[in-house]
Amino acid sequence: MRAVGGVAVARTVAALRTQVREWRAQGLGVAFVPTMGALHDGHLSLVRAGLERADRVVASVFVNPAQFGPGEDFSRYPRQEEADAALLAGAGCHLLFAPGVAEMYPPGFATTVTVGGVSEGLCGALRPGHFAGVATVVAKLLLQCLPDIALFGEKDYQQLQVIRRLVRDLDIPVGVVGVPTVREADGLALSSRNRYLSAEERRIAPALHRVLREVAAGLGRGEPALDLCRRAAEDLLAAGFLSVDYVEARDAETLSAAGKLEGRPLRILAAARLGGARLIDNIGVEP
Ligand code: AMP
Repeated sequence: MRAVGGVAVARTVAALRTQVREWRAQGLGVAFVPTMGALHDGHLSLVRAGLERADRVVASVFVNPAQFGPGEDFSRYPRQEEADAALLAGAGCHLLFAPGVAEMYPPGFATTVTVGGVSEGLCGALRPGHFAGVATVVAKLLLQCLPDIALFGEKDYQQLQVIRRLVRDLDIPVGVVGVPTVREADGLALSSRNRYLSAEERRIAPALHRVLREVAAGLGRGEPALDLCRRAAEDLLAAGFLSVDYVEARDAETLSAAGKLEGRPLRILAAARLGGARLIDNIGVEP
């Protein structure tokens, strides 16, 4: 296997499986971190969490065309394999799986995995087909690698719940581990898409996390979610966001609508547009 930037790179499912089989034969535990690349410290925190729980960590970089809608940023999504490989090597990752589109979706490919329930609403309502694209590629990646555990960020909270559901429903023998969101000092969640922001937009962006914290504080005082979320959306527009897709309080596990904080953990989730970027964020609230 050729190395790029100091880490071994597998381009094919066969090469990935050969390496993982070898590790298994040696009795080593394997962790897997799927990504779309343009790596930052949020991704690397998943690698570090994998190293704490397993002997070997595999990361994948694949910009999955199936999860982008028409008019979304698939063609301009940042691609920087050498830099990503160097970052992974620095974090202690053992193998980079970087397949091409033809390896993942060969001619004749005809299967889509659709997860109901948690996929509906929020980003699922605004990005038709997005979570089917995510579920299909994650199901493939997990079956290709067959790690002991796979790590996903809470940054994409709805995605994390979709993947938990997928793995449970299809009996995929992989433990799903959620990892807390890594943020800049001013609260902005690290994201590959933050590089789309101008200096002025970057100054405005932390308002997204700030309004989520305000909703959480209001819920803690017993105020109704609907009023708090409406006010949060208005605050985002006042701060300079172009439009707000949603600010909502949901049950943290099922993502069903929640009116107040009573008895069960909630998650407050938001998506909003700022310049040419669509930013998402979320935080948890304990009862
Ligand atoms: P992506 O490359 O955006 O598909 O993300 C790959 C993985 O990294 C997903 O599980 C994300 O949830 C996770 N991730 C992205 N940003 C962050 C962050 N700021 N903190 C923690 N995990 C993150």
